[in-house]
Amino acid sequence: MSTLKIMAPLTGWCASLDEVPDQVFAGRMLGDGLAIDPTSGVVIAPCAGEIITLPASAHAVSIRTAQGIDVLIHIGIDTVELRGRGFEPLVPPGAMVRAGDELIRFDLDIVARGAKSLMTPIVIAPVDGVSISQRRAQGPVTAGEVLFEIGPIPEHASSVSPPLTAGAAAEMAVSRTLTIALRHGLHARPAAMLANRAKTFAAQVSLNAHGRSANARSVVAIMALGVRHDDALTIQAIGPDAPQAIAGVVAALEEAMTMDTAAGDGAAAARPPGGAAAARSAAQADSGVLNGITAVGGFEVGRATRIERRNIEVVEHSADSAHEAAELERALTNVRLRLQRVAATGGATRREIIEAHLEFLGDPSLQEAAHGLIAAGKGAGFAWRSAVRQSIAALEALDDARMRERADDLLDVEAHVLLALAGEARPMIMPLPEHAILLADDLLPSEITALDRQRLAAICLGAGGTTSHVAILAAAMEVPMLVGIGADIREITDGSIVIVDADAGRLHIKPNAEEIEQARGAVESRRLARIAQRAAARTECRALDGTRIEVFANLGNIADAAAAALNGAEGCGLLRTEFLFIDRETAPGEDEQLAAYQGIANALGDVPLILRLMDVGGDKPLRYLALPHEENPALGMRGVRTALAHPHLLRAQLRAALRVVPFGKVRLLIPMVTEPAEIRAVRGMVDELSRELSLPGRVELGAMIETPAAALTAALICREVEFLSIGSNDLTQYTLAMDRGHSQLARRTDALHPAVLNLIAGAADAGAAAGKLVAVCGGVAADSQAVPILLGLGVRELSVVPAAVPALKQQIRGLRILECRELALRCLEAATASEVRALVEKTIANLGEPT
Ligand code: PEP
Ligand code: MG
Repeated sequence: MSTLKIMAPLTGWCASLDEVPDQVFAGRMLGDGLAIDPTSGVVIAPCAGEIITLPASAHAVSIRTAQGIDVLIHIGIDTVELRGRGFEPLVPPGAMVRAGDELIRFDLDIVARGAKSLMTPIVIAPVDGVSISQRRAQGPVTAGEVLFEIGPIPEHASSVSPPLTAGAAAEMAVSRTLTIALRHGLHARPAAMLANRAKTFAAQVSLNAHGRSANARSVVAIMALGVRHDDALTIQAIGPDAPQAIAGVVAALEEAMTMDTAAGDGAAAARPPGGAAAARSAAQADSGVLNGITAVGGFEVGRATRIERRNIEVVEHSADSAHEAAELERALTNVRLRLQRVAATGGATRREIIEAHLEFLGDPSLQEAAHGLIAAGKGAGFAWRSAVRQSIAALEALDDARMRERADDLLDVEAHVLLALAGEARPMIMPLPEHAILLADDLLPSEITALDRQRLAAICLGAGGTTSHVAILAAAMEVPMLVGIGADIREITDGSIVIVDADAGRLHIKPNAEEIEQARGAVESRRLARIAQRAAARTECRALDGTRIEVFANLGNIADAAAAALNGAEGCGLLRTEFLFIDRETAPGEDEQLAAYQGIANALGDVPLILRLMDVGGDKPLRYLALPHEENPALGMRGVRTALAHPHLLRAQLRAALRVVPFGKVRLLIPMVTEPAEIRAVRGMVDELSRELSLPGRVELGAMIETPAAALTAALICREVEFLSIGSNDLTQYTLAMDRGHSQLARRTDALHPAVLNLIAGAADAGAAAGKLVAVCGGVAADSQAVPILLGLGVRELSVVPAAVPALKQQIRGLRILECRELALRCLEAATASEVRALVEKTIANLGEPT
């Protein structure tokens, strides 16, 4: 046991912590101690020890003594806002110091003017059984005099909290660690959502990953952390509302992850094509053909139209910092207002991207860096450009192509602001000739949104990536796009006719007249084929031998329902109702649900609506349900297990679903079934509610086959339901014991694995024996290699994302079920998914050939 004397680090007036105008200190949230209202500007070490934190802003310092006691000195209140102005660190973090060594020098005048208060708390982090035994009374104190005494201290004491650090915030922080389930990591959009949420709290929130820390209010800093899929992220918060801040930021992340999952589901339709074409090398081909990487597939012929980016000149030096700072603020405000106007007029994709740009505009670390440079005598334009370029350099240093692609967004924001400083605005519409094939080294998001879509045929870029915002925008605009063509793109003569085969990753730069003619013919026949495919999708679907195959659509909301109707879906095979339940503070009431379901039913038209009961819990937690933390949520309380454990929620959903008119249009689908008893429990409730609502008949019930247990006992399950729907996404993950979101296992999590196919075959046979319809609503239904196998196994309904309906119908119309059956039986004997795919590849061209 020992004691420890803590000396006054400053000369001034000694006071109780109660007098510190900050609840964090006054409430002893960081620990007990005293405060000094300083009259001197040098902080000395109050004891010997190691400097464990001394941030670049040098407004605070903490020392760990040999006994394991952490002492924090926080110079003034809210001085972090001064960002180092007026402070000079005299020792580096990690240094060993003796009591009395000088640690920080600060300018009393600057700090007094810029801070909320000069009152400087000196506190010790809580240690079990250790307290202040003697403390100095209120009154004058000279640096080096004893301030308080701690003890007795047991051997090897250590703080019960994390080490005290500078922002005071991060140290006593409430903290939480999450694994990031975003497919592309913490990129611009989730970072923007997170930063936005963090700004709504008083607490200082920081994010920590890969041994680095970032201010959660700064999108740039968050992105520079380089957090990728499956990385651990620790969120820390400190301040009066720290717990709420943590909960809010975690909720924002979960929101982003949910949106990401939902987007991933529709990826086949919405994401720029990748796969084999995307992997193509960008090597220079001979004979007038340049190779590129497919960002958005398609085929076009048109006039090469080059756009060059204008270099905006900036002045480096300025003698009038105040004027430059005001100019920068004016330009930022003008750009913000302008972007907000543009965002309000565009589609959802464009709006999200502009929102990310708005975040960059208000980013504290960008602004801090720019204002710092202005204060050092630089012009506003020079300062803004330098600040942006610094952030770009940080992003480009990351080992993550997607993050590097965000540099384009920053360049875009840079250009907006530099033009605004010059009193100009970026043009809203960039003029183009008819059938323009746009050529550029690179393109910024605002440049692509300014293009005249009516005249734009395709885009070819020397640089660029397939996951950039430009690629996402091009996909949303349905403009074929090649990227990564290289510097040769500059050799193409402006105004010449070129052919873009974006499916094959080729740009023909010197086609002859005959080739141009042929290409024009091909463009026209593709256009007509698309129209015909969509028109043909309006009629019911039969295989070549006349077997009726229903092609339904998977929906999440009313917009999907409209798209389903437009694309010729013959019903909804899966309405993921959980989107109505997640990401909110209270459960949706019966009437709210009824309005949503009825709206979707109406938008679908006169076709069936299979409404899946809430598949919540597990990886889709609900804030209003106190679901316990689970080590392995995929194997925990999810799907029908959660629904049955919270009967009030299930009852409200069932009542809403049963009230949809006309009666009979809605069929109910039960998720994550593992045994017949679960179905019987739901059936009991449905029957009871049907009586309560005096319904004219019995509502059809279906079971999802997405666990091996359900697949293997499908015959028993068939006794309880009117139909089966195979959820291949979960069935694959549970059969192969591979997380469906695992990036490293993504290639192997293949529903065409013979084990999964054998389970589907068993369920399909059980359905056929019981005379019950068997559908597939998992992602495999849209996989063209899987379609003949599924039909061969006896599946008679496929439900896919709305945009995939026309092509799926066309494929089915070219298949004969008997031939599919033969193929399917051979696939069941295969050893691996690749063998199955090879078998299909070999056979598929002959399926449906005249016999
Ligand atoms: C499935 O598991 O295949 C399925 C359709 O359900 P979800 O993807 O919503 O889990
Ligand atoms: Mg599922």
